[in-house]
Formats: sequence, C-alpha cells, structure tokens
Amino acid sequence: MNDAADMIADAKRHGRAALDESAGKRLLATFGISVPKSVVVADARGATEALKQLHPPYVVKLISPDILHKSDAGGVKVNLKESSEVVNAIAEMAAAPHIKSARIDGYLIEEMAPPGQEIVIGAVRDPDFGPLVMVGLGGIFVEILADVAFRICPITRLDAEEMLAELKGGAILDGARGKRPVSRAAIVDSLIKIAGEDGLLMRHGDDFSEADINPLIVSEAGAVAVDARFILS
Ligand code: ADP
Ligand code: MG
Repeated sequence: MNDAADMIADAKRHGRAALDESAGKRLLATFGISVPKSVVVADARGATEALKQLHPPYVVKLISPDILHKSDAGGVKVNLKESSEVVNAIAEMAAAPHIKSARIDGYLIEEMAPPGQEIVIGAVRDPDFGPLVMVGLGGIFVEILADVAFRICPITRLDAEEMLAELKGGAILDGARGKRPVSRAAIVDSLIKIAGEDGLLMRHGDDFSEADINPLIVSEAGAVAVDARFILS
C-alpha cells in the first residue's frame, strides 16, 4: 500500500542496518516534512547532468553504510556554487583517507536549505513505553549542555509547544543576540508529523531502534530536514 513500508522492507531485505540518507528523507517527505531537493549520483561523472535539476548553492554528501557521521570523515561539502565545485568535491571525497576504505553507495547532491536555527529531533524505542520523541537546539545545546525535552508518543500540539518551552536555550528561537526569530510553529508542526497521533513514529516506530533529524534547519518561514538517520531494529 505505501512507499514507506516498501522502503523499510527493501532496506531489511538487503541486510541494511539503517536507511540511507536519501531513503530516510523520502520517508520524512511521505509524512509531510520538507527535505531539500536532491539527486543521487554514482560518481563525479554523473554530477553535471544531474545538477540541471537543482538550484545552487549545492551540498554534496557521501552515501556509505560504513560512515554514520559524514562530516567527521570529510563526507559533507556545503555552499558549492558551480558545477565544477561539485565535481571537485566528489573527487576529493572519493580520495579522502577515511572514505577510500569504505563502501560507497553514491553521492547525494542537494540544494542548501535557507539559513536558520539548527534543531535536533530524535526518537528512541523504549521497551515499556514504545517510541519516545526528543527535541533540542542544535550543536552544543544538545551535545554539551544536554538541553533537550522528551515525551512519550503520541504527542499533541500542546505537548510539542511545552517541549519547546522546557528548553533552557529556547530564547534563541525568539531572536536572541540580534538574530532573527525562527518559526516555533514550524518546529511544532514537524514534531507532530514525527510524533503525533498519525505521525511517522506511531506508524513505523517498531521498525526503528533509533532515529534522528540532525539538523532540522528552521527559519522564519519554515523548517527543512537536512539530515535523516533511521536505524533499523
Ligand atoms: P553529518 O553526517 O555529519 O551529521 P549532515 O548531513 O548533518 O552530516 O551535514 C553536516 C552539516 O552540514 C549540517 O549539520 C548542516 O549544518 C550542514 N548541511 C547539510 N546539509 C545541508 C543543506 N541541505 N542545507 C544547509 N546546510 C546543510
Ligand atoms: Mg547530521
């Protein structure tokens, strides 16, 4: 019946531990979450033709089942303006020490999201409570300060608003330090699409031991999921 179930079954059939980024983003898009427009190419030769479908600036990312943290391995290049920069980025990645020894499924070329605040939405499966959803502000807020809020799924719009209100760094969303405010409504919307009654986790939560959108880039106008990780259970 649905794309999402097929995609998950397909990854399992191929013995994958996780959905690749492109499949993960298709899954998010099925649930109404915005993702960057993208194409997948096998190598640098396919890039120039593929770029005709996209608008600059571009991002190039390595697709490899062996590399979960792409930037650490040199597998992400952002803000590329010309097709030649994209071609070079792919060639450089293919030659990078950590990447050379990994299995490479291809390269994801995508459009840059409009600038904004980076948010993390995460999910884990609890054996007793089922799927739990987490939200935090990106970067050091999550990694060092552990400034995050959790709920058991499904959540309501009010729950999502309260989760944001719990974040100690939440004032950042309202435009602290001369930054423009970003849309809390867009974050709430994304949380509902993931963790609400008809959301992704209520439908497919059993298939994943862990999932995250890191980051969701939120501007005044909306939110775009620029990375997606779904670990199969
Ligand atoms: P990693 O596997 O290292 O987490 P990401 O896909 O999250 O790789 O990319 C690393 C960083 O690059 C992101 O945190 C974000 O800041 C930036 N980035 C990635 N994709 C995009 C995009 N499409 N638009 C804007 N920024 C992006
Ligand atoms: Mg990421």
